[in-house]
Amino acid sequence: MARIVQKYGGTAVTTPDQIKNIAQRVVDSYNEINDVVVVISARAGETNRLIEMANEMCPGQEGREYDLLISAGEQVSVGLLGLCITSLGYKVKSYLGWQVPIITDSLHSRASIENIDPARINTDLQMGAIVIVAGFQGIDGDGNITTLGRGGGDTSAVALAHALGAEQCELYSDVEGIFTADPAVCSDARKIEQISYDEMLEFASEGARGVQIRAIEYAKKNNVTIHVRSSFSSTAGTLITREETVMEGVVVTGIVYDKNEAKIAVLGVPDKPGVAARILMALADADISVDMIVQNVSQGGLADVTFTISKTDLDKAQSITAKIAEELQAREVIADRNISKVSIVGLGMKNHAGVAARMFAALAFNNINIQMISTSEIKVAVAIDEKYTDLAVRVLHETFKVAV
Ligand code: ASP
Ligand code: MG
Repeated sequence: MARIVQKYGGTAVTTPDQIKNIAQRVVDSYNEINDVVVVISARAGETNRLIEMANEMCPGQEGREYDLLISAGEQVSVGLLGLCITSLGYKVKSYLGWQVPIITDSLHSRASIENIDPARINTDLQMGAIVIVAGFQGIDGDGNITTLGRGGGDTSAVALAHALGAEQCELYSDVEGIFTADPAVCSDARKIEQISYDEMLEFASEGARGVQIRAIEYAKKNNVTIHVRSSFSSTAGTLITREETVMEGVVVTGIVYDKNEAKIAVLGVPDKPGVAARILMALADADISVDMIVQNVSQGGLADVTFTISKTDLDKAQSITAKIAEELQAREVIADRNISKVSIVGLGMKNHAGVAARMFAALAFNNINIQMISTSEIKVAVAIDEKYTDLAVRVLHETFKVAV
């Protein structure tokens, strides 16, 4: 390999010893590979600390000044790593987003990267320097600092890998890769060697943590190979790449769950056009994203609309829904905080019939009641009582022989 982008997440650079270790790792890669560009996050907890500070002092603000504040954690990490690598005797060039420049649109706190000019970095690499870039930040056309959404360092790294024509974008954190299930829940879980962009997008949106969804989308669009790996070991992690031919007999690639789900049911609303739209529009206006949605067959001109949202949005969503329900003269609004979502994901599902049936049968056999269902071509997700989450994950991992 001749050129690589390595991104170290917050958990990889929390303590001074960890930063020193990363410096050594980077230098080793440089000696082996030559062109190394490092993207780095704020130390774990640092971005949260800045956000809390802002919320305590002047609540409810976002925008230009807010982005300038919350992008500050990355500058500290970049500076510290730069100093450590310099003290090992290597040439370093470190950059904030605007210096590269990484040009974004002007949507503060969730900006998208529009362009990266690789010229400066290319020159540095030619001169033999190790380049370090602050993740999570860029600059808009008017010269304002922007941030890319929480976890946005992943997108910075993928976009740089694309702009610099790097062979691979390594994303380092404290996990060894992507697993067939959460190893803390399922002792049979194993590391997946290779996963397609589409499967990884489903993993991430169904609750697997690890890689920012926007980064996976960016990688898919621009065909950047991502290598998810741990900064605490040298073993290979998981490659996220283009769709490969599905291995014979593999139906389900992994099981994911999300305990941060809650359910709201609006019972007895008039069954006529525009009702679901009205409820969902009000939630969208409040920036609440809705996940699963079910509307049952109406009886006597009335229907029930049920949907899930994150637990963190429940209180807000409940009061918005209650208001609309009153206007619609609905019978009742019921909220349930104890919901989780368990999903099976796999490209192999495209060519296999009866996958959902097998999933439902396995859950039924274990007396786990399914409350809601949603599907895509490569996923089946169910909402269940939160207390059965771990059991459901283990049962499904076993049923679909994911570990074999
Ligand atoms: N520091 C930012 C965050 O905590 C970006 C990142 O870690 O990728 O969200
Ligand atoms: Mg992160």
